[in-house]
Amino acid sequence: MKFSTDPFDEDHLKEECGVFGILGKDTAAAMVALGLHALQHRGQEAAGIVCFDGEHFNAHHALGHVGENFNSDSIVARLVGDSAIGHTRYATTGETALRNVQPLYADFDFGGFAVAHNGNLTNAHKLRKQLVKRGCLFRSTTDTEVIIHLMAISHQQKPVDRLIDALHQIEGAYSLVCLGKNMMIGVRDPYGVRPLVLGKQGDAYVLASETCALDIIGAEFVRDLEPGELVIIDNNGLQSLHPLKAAPSKFCIFEYIYFARPDSSVEGRSVYEMRKNIGAELARESHVDADIVVPVPDSGVPAAIGYANESKIPFDLGIIRNHYVGRTFIQPTDRIRHLGVKLKHNANRRFIEGKRVIVVDDSIVRGTTSTKIVDMVRNAGAREVHMRISSPPTAHSCFYGIDTPEKEKLLAHNYTIEQMCRFIGADTLAFISLEGLYRAMGETKRNANAPQFCDACFSGDYPISLTDLETEDKQEELSVLARGNR
Ligand code: AMP
Repeated sequence: MKFSTDPFDEDHLKEECGVFGILGKDTAAAMVALGLHALQHRGQEAAGIVCFDGEHFNAHHALGHVGENFNSDSIVARLVGDSAIGHTRYATTGETALRNVQPLYADFDFGGFAVAHNGNLTNAHKLRKQLVKRGCLFRSTTDTEVIIHLMAISHQQKPVDRLIDALHQIEGAYSLVCLGKNMMIGVRDPYGVRPLVLGKQGDAYVLASETCALDIIGAEFVRDLEPGELVIIDNNGLQSLHPLKAAPSKFCIFEYIYFARPDSSVEGRSVYEMRKNIGAELARESHVDADIVVPVPDSGVPAAIGYANESKIPFDLGIIRNHYVGRTFIQPTDRIRHLGVKLKHNANRRFIEGKRVIVVDDSIVRGTTSTKIVDMVRNAGAREVHMRISSPPTAHSCFYGIDTPEKEKLLAHNYTIEQMCRFIGADTLAFISLEGLYRAMGETKRNANAPQFCDACFSGDYPISLTDLETEDKQEELSVLARGNR
């Protein structure tokens, strides 16, 4: 069995996640299943629900989509109780991944406690090593498990104080939804890197990664949790604490660009509106004469609408997406790959032929998508292909919860924009500037000394220390761990 805490390990840094919880509703688990369904875009490969029935905790964890795993009445019927939390995760395939499916649950001396985590801890490796030395036995490879062990060894009495003890020791990005006996806790890290919103459905309190998950169960949006805030929800209502030292807010700007759903509002801003603004700013910054603006669906659609409106160039769906592509469907083998199988996108030839086409997408990571799309649009008869990207070049890895590969694999880390343009085969290529992105977000300018958002994937300015990455002897430790546990 492979064991590694390498942040780039296949079994580890795929921590794009959605979290959801509800307390005070007799069909809590069914509500969580719906909430997770609305958060499916935040992680497609595993999901889990833990609920409390007043006496016992029950759980169901599975690899795959929420709809595949929580559709049967028997499963949801087994998850009885008026409080439940859930998690949807971008994990890896294979047997070993099931142990990493959240919420993580543990029996403490004070009773059961479950944790669902969105984000990524940046000192989990260091803490894990210390905990293992103290005799803690880890059952998963997820960074979240250090929270469980830190709580277990805390000298505090109450579960919430033990959690706060753990929070004082962890670093990184985290939005947590936790479930104890008749109690739900929500926490955002001091920088508020990942989203977490509070809602109400009647008398029941709801916590969710995004507002679209409130909408699906008809819950009303109350507010975003503040960075560093911890809320305790029980039968007496809600109590808000700020147990951690306040830090300047560093919400992940990539949530607005790509990750969050466009029908969500985050920190008072509509994701859809921001994407349209970014598209408009991109059009102002990188105008090119063309006949048609075409989004790469779905992620490029709002920005392309903004681009088309601003440039007065007609918008059309010149690329159509097949929505039924899943990981379970055949991936092209080498034998059929040369056929150029287009599983996900196809050009809408009639609307492209003979035209000068502006193609809008949200980001270039490895360059695979853009290369395929440019080729496809050319093959459909485009006269010119101008690629426009609604983010600055992604030149740095994310260590706070977005799945990006190590920087050597990022096209923008290795190449200039001109070289990238040649690589993807476009006539021209332009990205929105970092300053332009801030303008689109409604900021007068990016504060270079203290940026208003976490934009590390574009700027390389990491607001939270990368303890594990900076640990000098990490490489050696990792190889020892890996050798010892294979
Ligand atoms: P690539 O093909 O590697 O250049 O990746 C770029 C494409 O992946 C774009 O179309 C994005 O919409 C999408 N994308 C960007 N970031 C992510 C992410 N963290 N997870 C999944 N897809 C992403």
